[in-house]
Amino acid sequence: MEEHFYQCPYCWEEVSILLDTSIDENSFIEDCEVCCNPLEFTVKFINRELINFEVQQFQ
Ligand SMILES: [Zn+2]
Repeated sequence: MEEHFYQCPYCWEEVSILLDTSIDENSFIEDCEVCCNPLEFTVKFINRELINFEVQQFQ
């Protein structure tokens, strides 16, 4: 697992999330730790290296 920091598109707080580096491409919904709004994450790893990280409001 790898810790990654991002800015929440709802509350603009900097929040950290744990990412599973063993999954190459992953998208999932998780609530913001601060404001509890649902966020949609799209994450891509190559050789366990993070090459893409996107977070957007889930609707
Ligand atoms: Zn938030």
